[in-house]
Amino acid sequence: MMNSESPAGAEVGTALDVNRLRKDFPALRRMVNGHPLVYFDNTAATLKPQSVIDSISRVYSDYPANVHRGIHMLSEEATNAYEEARVKVARFLNAREPDEIVYTLNTTDSINHIAGSWGEANIGPGDEVLVTDMEHHANFVPWQQLCMRKGAKFQVAHVLSSGQLDREDFDSKLNERTKLVACAHVSNVSAVVNPIRELAEQAHRVGAIFVADCAQSVPHMPVDLQALGADFIACSAYKFLAPFGVGILWGRRELLDSMPPYRTGGNMIAEVSREHTRFNVAPHKFEAGTPSIADVIGMGAAIDYLEQWGMQAIYEHEVELSRYMHERLADMPGVRVIGDWFPGKPAIASFHLDYAHPHDVAQFLNEEGVAVRSGLHCAEPLHCALGLSSSTRASLYLYNTHDEIDRMIAAIKTVEEIFA
Ligand code: PLP
Repeated sequence: MMNSESPAGAEVGTALDVNRLRKDFPALRRMVNGHPLVYFDNTAATLKPQSVIDSISRVYSDYPANVHRGIHMLSEEATNAYEEARVKVARFLNAREPDEIVYTLNTTDSINHIAGSWGEANIGPGDEVLVTDMEHHANFVPWQQLCMRKGAKFQVAHVLSSGQLDREDFDSKLNERTKLVACAHVSNVSAVVNPIRELAEQAHRVGAIFVADCAQSVPHMPVDLQALGADFIACSAYKFLAPFGVGILWGRRELLDSMPPYRTGGNMIAEVSREHTRFNVAPHKFEAGTPSIADVIGMGAAIDYLEQWGMQAIYEHEVELSRYMHERLADMPGVRVIGDWFPGKPAIASFHLDYAHPHDVAQFLNEEGVAVRSGLHCAEPLHCALGLSSSTRASLYLYNTHDEIDRMIAAIKTVEEIFA
């Protein structure tokens, strides 16, 4: 039996010194409607530690110069910090080399790069693309639209009522016409963790490539790209403590080399004449125009911060919070959590109250200083498949605590008293 008691006082039982690390996040000092902020909207965006804020501010105060093009000191400093971040990302995700890391705007942009470059060049009439019902729209709509443009068949594998992928349905829709499979590593609604390595091996056996949407795994658990076995992955840096405006596309070197650029213009060329343009090599051929330099450098600082605590320790802390949150929610009548609990479940709980609309729940929780999200979470096919019109989502991160879960539960109880 799991122990349902909230550890009193300090956060115990994990390697993270949560009470200490909370001091690194200025937003946690905020009061919301007279209450200390409880920030449970981490799936949408995370708070930023002071070290990340300082690193951005240093760029603008000390070396606010453009990268790659200048030989003056400020440009060299900016270029070095910008490229150093690429080395950090490669190390963080265990990529084979930094040049497999392409900076984008966010996960959506990364996936559009794959669809707009590899997809446009390799998908044609009669081909098939397979996704799942649990995808965020970012990993659904670009593939659907690509198939419509190219006369290919868009296949969607179903989910079970447990929230897990229906493997029989997936198997039945994967065949030798499938050219690409795209699937979330972790669902942003049910927190289901898909067995990417197994699914990618299956895709490879029929000659398809595999795209893993790692937007909700990279921030919360150790991710080893080489062990994962996908051909491309996508994620958003602002979901792992970094600034907004930068995402990551990782691709196998041989695939990146074979792909045409997604956008053309400055910064991505080797040589331009009136008649001809020779493109730069990957990753630069995918980074047209002036990038979001300070945000990329801030992402490097975020990785330093996460590595200081360790992704395994962060994951274990979140899994413990997840266990506690799901247990407390399970005790409440009229609360239906999307997807079954499973050991190791990341700390996301999307739920529906029998007696109140998700928007009312989120609004009431905000009155109590608890920030959650309500709606479809950009996962309309999943809500539709599970027969839900919307849900309320609590998603936690390394700085959250058992006491904060108690505060959310107390606020939900008040909602029950008012609406039930
Ligand atoms: N994929 C998943 C699983 C997500 O959770 C999100 C955002 O929440 C996205 C993709 C899209 O991310 P972005 O809006 O940063 O492109």
